[in-house]
Amino acid sequence: MANFNIDSEEKRTYDAIVIGSGASGGWAAKELCDKGLKTLVLERGRDVKHIKDYPTASKGDWEFEFRGTVPVEERVNHKNARWLREQTMHWQLPDDEQPVVFEKPFFWFRGYHVGGKSLLWARQTQRWSDYDFEGPARDGFAIDWPIRYKDIEPWYSYVEKFAGIAGDKDGLPELPDSEVMKAYEMSCVETYFKEKIRENYGNTRHLISARCAHLSDPQEIHLQQGRNKCQGQRMCNRGCIFGGYFSSNSSTIPWAMKTGNLTMRPNAVVHSIIYDDEKGKATGVRIIDAESKEMIEFYAKIIFVNASTFNSNAILLNSTSDRFPNGLGNDNGLLGKYMSWHNYRGKANARYEGLKDKTTDGGRPTNAYVPRFRNVFKQETDFLRGYAIGISGGRGHNSDTTPIGDQLRENILNPELGDWHISSWMMGECVPVEENHVRLHPELKDKYGIPQLVISCDWTENDDKMVKDYVEQSIEMFEKAGFTDIDARDTKAPPGSDIHEMGGVRMGKDPKTSLLNEWNQLHHCKNVFVTDGACMTSTGTQNPTLTFMALTARAANYAVEELNKQNI
Ligand SMILES: Cc1cc2nc3c(=O)[nH]c(=O)nc-3n(C[C@H](O)[C@H](O)[C@H](O)COP(=O)(O)OP(=O)(O)OC[C@H]3O[C@@H](n4cnc5c(N)ncnc54)[C@H](O)[C@@H]3O)c2cc1C
Repeated sequence: MANFNIDSEEKRTYDAIVIGSGASGGWAAKELCDKGLKTLVLERGRDVKHIKDYPTASKGDWEFEFRGTVPVEERVNHKNARWLREQTMHWQLPDDEQPVVFEKPFFWFRGYHVGGKSLLWARQTQRWSDYDFEGPARDGFAIDWPIRYKDIEPWYSYVEKFAGIAGDKDGLPELPDSEVMKAYEMSCVETYFKEKIRENYGNTRHLISARCAHLSDPQEIHLQQGRNKCQGQRMCNRGCIFGGYFSSNSSTIPWAMKTGNLTMRPNAVVHSIIYDDEKGKATGVRIIDAESKEMIEFYAKIIFVNASTFNSNAILLNSTSDRFPNGLGNDNGLLGKYMSWHNYRGKANARYEGLKDKTTDGGRPTNAYVPRFRNVFKQETDFLRGYAIGISGGRGHNSDTTPIGDQLRENILNPELGDWHISSWMMGECVPVEENHVRLHPELKDKYGIPQLVISCDWTENDDKMVKDYVEQSIEMFEKAGFTDIDARDTKAPPGSDIHEMGGVRMGKDPKTSLLNEWNQLHHCKNVFVTDGACMTSTGTQNPTLTFMALTARAANYAVEELNKQNI
């Protein structure tokens, strides 16, 4: 039952509303608040305060009651979860929070709390180049982007300096350099592999230290955020009390809060966006309060939709009005279509018998990375686009941990070292096709009365061919490096675990074939901006969140300019 009287309308009116407080929503909030807009962030999950709400951040393995294993009785409402651990149970989504209809196998990883998946991500941050933005125009598959690298370049620099990126200046045209602090050192087997790649492939393939959103050398701007150097503990997904990695909670949200312009409303499940037929624009957002189940309306001049790809699609599809009976801005019927993601199906690993005199010490928060080398400068294979490869090499040990007391301590302090090993995983560009889509179920609803989302996404023949090529190339590169026990395979995993959903509200030049313009505005409702992964016209091979953040900062600054000119 709607309750529109809980407060006066004036008190529920802001300059801007941001839906979602994750990686992209945090940036929208920061930029809008910095520019003086009274901004309301509507977040469906609970509040999470930096440091205070990371209950396991500093715990040793021995301090967990079940050594990390989650007891059967706590698994009951988590049947859909893949990685249940005591260390990260506080982020897990109960199954009944948002039931979904998976028309085809798909694994959807969600993080519903203030900060969203910015608390859970692996923090890999590689820029796109024009080879990515021009991909669709070059091979004619899907539609052309309305922007190019030069349009987003200054915004990459802008978000990188604030977030803090560790990496090298590699000077590669296919992976433009970022604003970086010093890179994390590669392990000796990775360095060895880098040399072998150079020897065997010359300038056509490279192995670099993967750029990541960690503070290897905090600058003044990071200290101002209250963050400090990454300690290399590699317990990031519990939440980091040092603010060593970028999350909304450690960075953008507290920054926005300090401006005095931010109102954060957790437990606010957005139902739909309100469109006023007479004014010809959106006037606000309807939420269901997660605790009271009341429907409440909030109003604003501009609305940023940052609920993560599938949810942003769902919200727009559920935002129907006389003018938009099929969802907000959906005149061409393409909303929810051309959904895409990344292809992580290929995996490989091997052993290296050399380097026995070397060991490793300490931890690092990243790995090594082979930027895309297929079909970059010319089309050279029977599939479109290409893949990047993640590489991680280390040395295992076979310490006997069965004894107790002095012997146990001795075995752990001076482990018996095994061989060096190397593992690799593909990160392929999926080409968006119309059949891969999400839609709302006509009858099924969740506990908030919101229609359930139907996810209908599958691999294409292009993906299959790409995996085959990755497997062949991995074997070849590993053999040429002298690695042994090579195992390279197609895991045949269903899509989704690749965690990079994109599309459904794509950007484009033509309103007949796209939903958003070059500034992430809905073509047909200019005061609504969609700047999370839903806006992506194609997917590139690079981990996408840096691009979502840069697009968000760019669009937010544009929105403020347009507001000031009274254009929206
Ligand atoms: C394990 C893992 C590793 C990853 N590693 C990387 C990586 O290395 N590099 C990379 O680039 N990306 C990585 N990603 C992906 C990255 O986390 C996402 O791309 C990024 O967080 C997306 O930002 P977002 O703002 O769109 O969504 P999110 O960060 O998911 O935030 C969306 C927010 O919206 C809220 N919300 C959803 N629906 C509603 C609603 N109806 N009403 C109100 N609020 C709502 C959610 O609760 C959430 O807080 C990884 C993801 C996972 C899970």
